[in-house]
Amino acid sequence: MARRVSPVSGQEGAKIGMSTLSARQAALRRHARGAMLGLALGDALGATVEFMTPREIQTRHGTHDTIQGGGWLRLPLGQVTDDTTMSFALAEAWLNGTGDPGAEDCARAFDAWMRSKPVDIGNTVRRGIVRFRHTGQACMPISEDAGNGATMRCAPVALALAGAPEERVALATLAQARVTHHHPLTDAATLAVVGMIQSAILHANPVAGIREVMARANQLARTHPALHFRGRPMENPSGYIVDTMRAVLQSIDLNDNFESALVDVVNRGGDADTTGAILGMIMGALHGEAALPTRWLRVLDKSAYRRCLLLADKLIERAPAWKTV
Ligand code: MN
Ligand code: MN
Repeated sequence: MARRVSPVSGQEGAKIGMSTLSARQAALRRHARGAMLGLALGDALGATVEFMTPREIQTRHGTHDTIQGGGWLRLPLGQVTDDTTMSFALAEAWLNGTGDPGAEDCARAFDAWMRSKPVDIGNTVRRGIVRFRHTGQACMPISEDAGNGATMRCAPVALALAGAPEERVALATLAQARVTHHHPLTDAATLAVVGMIQSAILHANPVAGIREVMARANQLARTHPALHFRGRPMENPSGYIVDTMRAVLQSIDLNDNFESALVDVVNRGGDADTTGAILGMIMGALHGEAALPTRWLRVLDKSAYRRCLLLADKLIERAPAWKTV
């Protein structure tokens, strides 16, 4: 198997800008970059087969494992969708202010994102942003809508608050989530995914990291039995957070590397760009930038690629874990 080294990581990265970093900071950065790039790769790979059934994917692509654009959105090669670009918007909300962004800061960032005419936008997300525009209310009331749109964009919170106390992480996670989604299951899933990414980055070691990631997954399933993920394979996962998380956690549980886990989850079809995005951010954080397949990174949209690196670097430099080394 080809050695996987991304174009600007490893030795080059050390020469360009890592010389003043401690070994600990360099490790945090590699895994933070892995989270943001993993998110974008999962989104780009999954978008081609979004809303297809596993059988349709099999007929059309065999095993779908090539980033190639297309899909129902007719994307150019390597383009990402709302999962990644909403994450960029949230990242900017973090980087533009000094303190942790509250719900209104997040809502303003999402509003600006919607004005930028994104390629795709979920119904629940649209409803939340439109409501903010009309009322100035940045927190949705509790509703029955338990979509996956708050979870798909949560990575920036995990990076910016790696090493922060749990209460602070929870506050920031729910502030961004509830701009559009307010349901006990979306709250729980988003908190769990943020926790998984943080465990993965802080361990900066897949063997130690996966134990804590799966411990969090098991904890989530214990607290919310609907999110129990073992057993019958979840195919055609919908945008319902329960379906989405079951597919993602099954694929993480059954695969020990980034590539096979991501291929597994997107070939289940359904909301494949979003299962890909969520799995990608967790597995990317776990395995780090250098574990991401070069053939995917090469075709990822160049501007999205650069933005992932830039934002990952800036967010992790804000994290409490960055200073305590
Ligand atoms: Mn999408
Ligand atoms: Mn989607």
